[in-house]
Amino acid sequence: MATAELRPFHLLAKPTGAVCNLDCAYCFFLAKEELYPGSDFRMADDVLQAYLEQLVAAHRGLPEVTVAWQGGEPTLMGLDFFRRAAALVEQAVEPGQQVLHTIQTNATKLDPEWAAFFAEHGFLVGVSIDGPQAMHDAYRVTKGGRGSFARVMQGLGALRDAEVEWNALTTVHAANAEHPLEVYRFLRDDCGAQFMQFIPIVEPAEDRSVTGEQYGRFLISVFEEWVRRDIGEVFVQMFDVALANWFGEPPSLCVHSETCGRALALEHTGDVYSCDHYVEPGYLLGNIAEQSLAELVELPRQVAFGRAKRDTLPSQCVTCDVRFACHGGCPKDRVLTTPAGEPGLNWLCDGYQAFFRHIDAPMREMAGLLRAGRPPSDLSAAYAAADLRRGRNEPCPCGSRRKWKTCHGT
Ligand code: SF4
Ligand code: SF4
Repeated sequence: MATAELRPFHLLAKPTGAVCNLDCAYCFFLAKEELYPGSDFRMADDVLQAYLEQLVAAHRGLPEVTVAWQGGEPTLMGLDFFRRAAALVEQAVEPGQQVLHTIQTNATKLDPEWAAFFAEHGFLVGVSIDGPQAMHDAYRVTKGGRGSFARVMQGLGALRDAEVEWNALTTVHAANAEHPLEVYRFLRDDCGAQFMQFIPIVEPAEDRSVTGEQYGRFLISVFEEWVRRDIGEVFVQMFDVALANWFGEPPSLCVHSETCGRALALEHTGDVYSCDHYVEPGYLLGNIAEQSLAELVELPRQVAFGRAKRDTLPSQCVTCDVRFACHGGCPKDRVLTTPAGEPGLNWLCDGYQAFFRHIDAPMREMAGLLRAGRPPSDLSAAYAAADLRRGRNEPCPCGSRRKWKTCHGT
């Protein structure tokens, strides 16, 4: 138990289970309603209390505890639920221990009252937004099939008015994958996003899936914009994670870590699963009414789940030149067979390879700057100097095969 008490873990709590007020075409959660037939999909007070007490107890002696809410759509629980949760956790922490409250939401329910609450408790709010209206509304629709963009922008406006810290969670799919610059500039310039995550939609049987090649080009294009204008101003999760790997520190994202297994999911019933992407019977670890979170996270079965990420890599990954940055991606996306016939290759492999190779030189530079005690943003000057020498009709260095003047030179 002593080990468990000193090692932080991340847990996504789903107080409404998979229930959501939207009906996004690519949402992998909706089918999970079938896991709990007849449930009201609302976390009961005793579960809430047990969860928060156990979460805080498991982080005793550590400087920080993160309380993370996700769905479905967690705001369907109503504001009073979160007021009670915040009060419970703030009572339970030790003096001096920091609480980081986070919530992932589609933002359609947010108004000034929600925003004031988030501001008061220092919440970091993740807002799901897929780009300008046409790209967002392609899949993020209401139960009636109407686009949700206008409501999301209203909710986001309330957050911004109350100066709530927020980040954009943008899924990359067939409708926006070919428009990386437009998506990035929209998030940065129209929404004022300073933190962004780009999450690939991997559904091999569906047209809406992003391909590996598209995802790689998307990330490269965003990187070519960011490295020129926004280092130190805009934080793109994938770039931070890559820099950590180039710098030699453990990255903050399980997908590109060597092993995983310390990002679990808690259902509204108190059931704990290995990961939010594995909320299914075979990955149920137990219920917090019977075993504590600290015990569940250290179960040999869970440790094996995390190690399997590394131990089941196909030889193509084991010998790959960018394995140190990629680590084979998330096991849920390892649906391909390698040319040698081994299973377990990531759907996004082509894109990962292209992206990580493309950023190798600038990442080395940035890691070197950090080691020298200088800011990574110093790199932008070198890009500016090279761009000055570049002819307007020369090919864009992002590899799009378009002219500089009509691509990143705009
Ligand atoms: S299965 Fe994927 S999402 Fe889940 S913890 Fe492992 S890497 Fe992360
Ligand atoms: S780039 Fe491809 S081969 Fe290399 S580690 Fe990633 S998934 Fe494996």
